[in-house]
Amino acid sequence: MMQLNRRSFFTAGAMASAMAVMPAPTTHAVTLPDPEKKARLRLSCQEGVAPGKSLAEKLDFMEKLGFEGIEPGGGGLARRVEEFQKALSGRNIKISAICAGFNGVLISEKEESRNQAVSSMKDIMTAAGALGSTGLIMVPAFNGQTKLGHQESREILIKLLTELAEHAAQNKTRFLLEPLNRGECHFLRQVGDGAAICRDVEQSLKKSKGAEANCGGVGLMGDFWHMTWEETSDLAAFLSAEKYLHHVHIASRKRRSMPGEDAGDNYVSGFKGLKLIGYQDFISLECGSQGNKKETIPAAVKLIREQWDMA
Ligand code: MG
Repeated sequence: MMQLNRRSFFTAGAMASAMAVMPAPTTHAVTLPDPEKKARLRLSCQEGVAPGKSLAEKLDFMEKLGFEGIEPGGGGLARRVEEFQKALSGRNIKISAICAGFNGVLISEKEESRNQAVSSMKDIMTAAGALGSTGLIMVPAFNGQTKLGHQESREILIKLLTELAEHAAQNKTRFLLEPLNRGECHFLRQVGDGAAICRDVEQSLKKSKGAEANCGGVGLMGDFWHMTWEETSDLAAFLSAEKYLHHVHIASRKRRSMPGEDAGDNYVSGFKGLKLIGYQDFISLECGSQGNKKETIPAAVKLIREQWDMA
């Protein structure tokens, strides 16, 4: 009974209750405004996921399939800036996000570990900015990495992210919080909660820098793999992330393999959400593969493009 399209949707609950009590069913349409810019599908692939013996081989493979982004790890990135600049010059591929690679734990109970996290994240962000990256993907703490309670962790996180957001904005990049499934991280599981943390960091920046504070360093990502276990609606998750969403990871939904390698792999609801918010950033492969990646990656690209068009 539920109709769903880009412009409006009817809530299933409203439909069901209306139908139960009224002879002629009525619905309540929610009309969402058009996004400022039309969403674009820009595919990215993690450096380690692309097949090839060298960076150039990986880029050649990706370019043939129409990938527009590559996602390197953050470890040692400062030493690789020139390597990437050279490898990408003259190609239609840019650096998308930078995947972690920092030391320390941002919300550790140990001050030394927190400081290590802040300083290594700043170093990676400086390199990320030089490479024109959308941001540094980061997890505040994996399960077992902090003894602090949730409330205290959250207060410390807002304080440290405020400092990191300032550094990121100065370097024209951002931090990207990544919500993970409960098996990896209880502290931050849902995209909407990550967006609420971003909002709090913005408020904290405005409190210290005034209403005109540069909040461009604040951001969030969603990973379809983790969202499979934690979200009730991919569409609603991305809607709640709205302006803070600046990166997406994608994998098959049962084994974290190539999209399409698990029966029923479906991203249409999430893609509808991305279209509704006018998403401009990358969707990046973060996954293994059951088969030969020279065959499974092209198949994944085809499936993603078909489901994007369907959304
Ligand atoms: Mg991920």
